[in-house]
Amino acid sequence: MKDKISIVGAGLVGSLLALILKQKGFNVQVFEKRNDPRKSENVEGRSINLALSHRGIRPLKLAGVYETIEPYLIPMKGRMMHDEAGELTFQPYGKEGQFINSVSRAQLNQLLIESAEKAGVEVHFDHKCTDIDFENNELTFHNGLTQQSDLVVGTDGAFSAIRKNLQYTDRFNFSQHYIEHGYKELSIIPTDDKFLLEPNYLHIWPRGNFMLIALPNNDKTFTCTLFFPFEGNLSFAKLTTKDEVNAFFEKYFTDAKALIPDVADQFFDNPTSSLVTTKCEPWHKNNTMLLGDAAHAIVPFYGQGMNSGFEDVRLFVEMAEGMNWKWDEVLPAYSASRKKDADAISELALHNFIEMRDHVGDPDFLRRKKLESKIQETYPKEWIPLYSMVTFSDMPYSEALRLGKIQKRVMDEFLQKEGDVDFDEIINRFNTLKQGG
Ligand code: FAD
Repeated sequence: MKDKISIVGAGLVGSLLALILKQKGFNVQVFEKRNDPRKSENVEGRSINLALSHRGIRPLKLAGVYETIEPYLIPMKGRMMHDEAGELTFQPYGKEGQFINSVSRAQLNQLLIESAEKAGVEVHFDHKCTDIDFENNELTFHNGLTQQSDLVVGTDGAFSAIRKNLQYTDRFNFSQHYIEHGYKELSIIPTDDKFLLEPNYLHIWPRGNFMLIALPNNDKTFTCTLFFPFEGNLSFAKLTTKDEVNAFFEKYFTDAKALIPDVADQFFDNPTSSLVTTKCEPWHKNNTMLLGDAAHAIVPFYGQGMNSGFEDVRLFVEMAEGMNWKWDEVLPAYSASRKKDADAISELALHNFIEMRDHVGDPDFLRRKKLESKIQETYPKEWIPLYSMVTFSDMPYSEALRLGKIQKRVMDEFLQKEGDVDFDEIINRFNTLKQGG
């Protein structure tokens, strides 16, 4: 196969796509605006660690890189909730043996770039794409160089240059939405070589309109992320001095603060970043395609941004192979089949923020969870909780969203009833609604 493919962006999605397309026999070149991360001390990137789960792992396995990555993963079995008194409550993510994985973004990206290069992909760092001619599939870079190819894939992230150029074309739809919350990363650093919190959990301090989370790293640190409104009574805007920051953490995150003695210094040293959802369509124009965040950036509350981007890669390549790599047919077919799933995970991610920050400590939510785990115990094949459909299966996100809405409706109905719960009745109701009844 001789097609020349240019990929813009050597982030997580671009480097995995490059590796897989090279394995399929294409001539693949990747253009990345950053310098080679292996040659730079400062690793750029928005989050230090990420949760990797089934949808992301499957394409890594197909590409034969999972074994290289696995030693760097830290399993997280569930959420460990910290209430204001420092009391802990554990909520498993799924069944016994199911877990998600904390992984360093920088390490994962580096391993993928190295694997792609080893397979023969040419990665050109310090090449910022500034323009694209969609008629001739020609890219232009900030240094004036140009590149012509048979297929161009834009995997250049939430602020994609390729997508910006698509916005100048006819009948291209685009929307973006910033939520009122931003985030700030803080680190829990051990004094000796031991984790200061239990490592195999995603720790959460849910506090109503805001929350702190912590994910473990291989070097025994935890990366904490504070999700907090930009404006308002309790907001980034109101924390302007070190005393205010210390008092805020002392009041709302007492046990976490004890583990971050320099929290006020970190707070002012580290940037506050915003969270955006972007939607666009179509994801293609002639022989140019968008994948990953460039096509659909979502808020991080379901831990699915990267996972959905890796799944994009698998589905795109599987479809292209099945259509004998006829790009003019593959690109529209892929856009048409995947868009509803990108929209679904976008909706689910926004909703999960409310669940994480607000409901996880709420008695009603805990009652619902208890009921759900009993239904699942009784009907393990018929009733799969929404979180598991999203995180531990390949079910299209749009189907998971549809079934999740039906499950919520059924539980709402049964939680209002007095007396013993009849699980047969619940499952019959669920099956009827599922079939459109
Ligand atoms: P990116 O990772 O953004 O990569 C884009 C690449 O393109 C970069 O290397 C960039 O330098 C390059 N580039 C940009 N412009 C140009 C240009 N003009 N020319 C050339 N190169 C260019 N997802 C999960 O699955 N699990 C999580 O737990 C999770 N947690 C998150 C936490 C936070 C706080 C945030 C913000 C996101 C989180 N995500 C998570 C989402 C995840 O980070 C993204 O979905 C993922 O990085 C998307 O990968 P990508 O390759 O599409 O884009």
